[in-house]
Amino acid sequence: MINIDIKELKTRAQALLARFYGYGEFRPLQFDIIANAVAGRDSVVLMPTGGGKSVCYQMPALLSEGGVVVVVSPLIALMKDQVAALVSNGIPAAAVNSLQSEEENRNILEQLATGRIKLLYISPERLLSEMERWSRSLPIVLFAIDEAHCISQWGHDFRPGYTQLSLIKECYPAVPVMALTATADRLTRDDIALQLRLSDPKLFIGSFDRPNISLKVVVNPGKTQRLAMIGRLIDRHRTDSGIVYCISRKGAEETARQLAERGYRTGVYHARLSTEERNRAQERFINGDLQVMCATVAFGMGIDKSNIRWVVHNNMPRNIESYYQEIGRAGRDGAPAETLMFYSYGDIATLQSFVDESGQRTLNAEKLARMREYAEASLCRRRILLSYFNETMDHDCGNCDVCLNPPQRFDGTIHAQKALSAVVRLQGQAGITMLIDVLRGMGRQELMLRGFHLIKTYGAGADLSFAEWNAYITQMIQLGLLDIAYNEGNHLKVTDYGMRVLRERLPVTLALFTPYERRTSGRKTAWPEPQLSPAEILLETLKEVRVKLARVEMVAPYLVLTDKTLLELVRLQPTDMAAFASVEGISERKTVKYWKPFVTAIRKHLGIKEKLGSGLSESETLLLLQSGYDIPAIAEAKNIKPQTVYNHLATLISADRLTEFSSIITRDQYLRVMQVARENPSELFQILAGEMPLGMPKVALAISDYLLRHKAD
Ligand code: ADP
Ligand code: ZN
Repeated sequence: MINIDIKELKTRAQALLARFYGYGEFRPLQFDIIANAVAGRDSVVLMPTGGGKSVCYQMPALLSEGGVVVVVSPLIALMKDQVAALVSNGIPAAAVNSLQSEEENRNILEQLATGRIKLLYISPERLLSEMERWSRSLPIVLFAIDEAHCISQWGHDFRPGYTQLSLIKECYPAVPVMALTATADRLTRDDIALQLRLSDPKLFIGSFDRPNISLKVVVNPGKTQRLAMIGRLIDRHRTDSGIVYCISRKGAEETARQLAERGYRTGVYHARLSTEERNRAQERFINGDLQVMCATVAFGMGIDKSNIRWVVHNNMPRNIESYYQEIGRAGRDGAPAETLMFYSYGDIATLQSFVDESGQRTLNAEKLARMREYAEASLCRRRILLSYFNETMDHDCGNCDVCLNPPQRFDGTIHAQKALSAVVRLQGQAGITMLIDVLRGMGRQELMLRGFHLIKTYGAGADLSFAEWNAYITQMIQLGLLDIAYNEGNHLKVTDYGMRVLRERLPVTLALFTPYERRTSGRKTAWPEPQLSPAEILLETLKEVRVKLARVEMVAPYLVLTDKTLLELVRLQPTDMAAFASVEGISERKTVKYWKPFVTAIRKHLGIKEKLGSGLSESETLLLLQSGYDIPAIAEAKNIKPQTVYNHLATLISADRLTEFSSIITRDQYLRVMQVARENPSELFQILAGEMPLGMPKVALAISDYLLRHKAD
């Protein structure tokens, strides 16, 4: 173990966080996790998706002198995105995987030895086949195992490739290992440490709360209502994207077709598609081509798209872990995101059959029951979720449907009696829809044929709408008055408790039904043109700027700037480079690359007519110099010649804007220029051309003037 000066480390780490990520502060636990790794200790890190795990294993690479962090990651798509994100912030990173040529891969592995790559992403299979041949003296400072739950048979996406990873400790016993995951119960957690042979690992458990994600559950929605609600989500986020998770391939395809018919840009993703089709769909989604992806749970692991604005569950997931992981894909950038789960009794029947077929029947049945409790809850949903992950929250969240629309109770005894009595008279031979139609006195054929119009309660509930009855009968099921016979075509039965309520006329309290949102009907004809506020207009404008930049660079838009950063830009409206640079989420590399187009758009929006002043390129150079870039690096970052950089420096010195010279010229170089300037002024530049960089003499002369100017002071 290494002794470290924590205070000094923190100062350095914070400077790097600002420089390479544009963030002012670490999130809770991030620095502790980093310090633990720098000290050479193993760790298991549990944080929700979007919690900020990447920084934890990337920072040790930045903090080390010439060291590399090897990141073991199961998905190639994820590697690609992470590498692109790192490179966009000026951090040298690379991936070794089967998508690249062997030659490319070899090349990258050779560069490892020189410490020129700071982060290497690699699949577990590849690492295993590779590592035994690697030199023991490679400058590896950390192994990070991402999605570490894949190592455990107990986890829900076990990957055989992960099981041999104990080889890491055999080959590199002195290098610390950090195992990271978003989902791990105690069993899996212990298994991870055991399988990787971690030595006395420190366990870090981050908060699972994701307050920016809103939670909403709709019980038993009809087909049209579902589509209308999804449509409204898409409309609210016209230029962004979301996911609709479906229980089956058929469901995904059907939903995709219906949404496409309404004019939305839609994709489908499920395990039956070919790898190629899946990759293409995923690619289009990541690039922002698609507004909505209709998918089975096969989609999403390793999707590192930070601006997914909403997630819909068309069916209830099989447990809270899956649910939380899936909704967690929304709003990873920390900006507000919406989630919506549709829950119907048909889902329960399907999920129940999955449980019956599964290996661990009791466990899975228990998990399904907890999921169902969540769906039916009338308490703050976030509190239920967090308590499931053993985290307590002492207040209601204010960002779930229960908090926002607390149920209003009323005496529903009469409604309950009508429904119970009808079920008795129907002799338990009808499902919900038929029961409602009987109560409302509908005349459809099947009802008449079966003689249901002859029972005494036929039409007794004609005063309520279908939706109202649907809501109240659902509540009666939740209250235990009625039961659904899943093995008998989902027919409703009166429970013993229901019989007592009926016979003894016990009071029943129900939650008042309020229509969720007004339904829209018919086909969509054109984009809605909502009234946008000035801030929304600016946001749209900035998104257009972002899309253009992304096209030029051929990267996904969120790699230019995330939605959250765009929202910050809208809030702060920076009108010059310095103000732009100080916005959270903007690294130096991005400042230099992007400040002009964004600031220009903001100035235009604000009606500022004057042109951006002169001397801007010099200001950029100064910013880079002050943040530690040397002259070749500045030239590369700005895509200009080093000589031009020297010209900028000379201008800056003449304007007294640059007063510290040691990083741009040595004392000897300066004295040499002075000497030639004295002895042979007319041939100064020719003489020095071979001895030092082309622009340097000009800088020396500017320094000399500067010193003369300031001698008198
Ligand atoms: P995870 O890997 O845990 O799912 P990420 O590492 O992708 O999460 O981080 C989620 C988001 O949070 C990213 O947009 C990331 O840039 C941002 N983030 C991480 N650390 C910080 C921080 N200290 N301050 C602000 N944003 C952060
Ligand atoms: Zn709540």
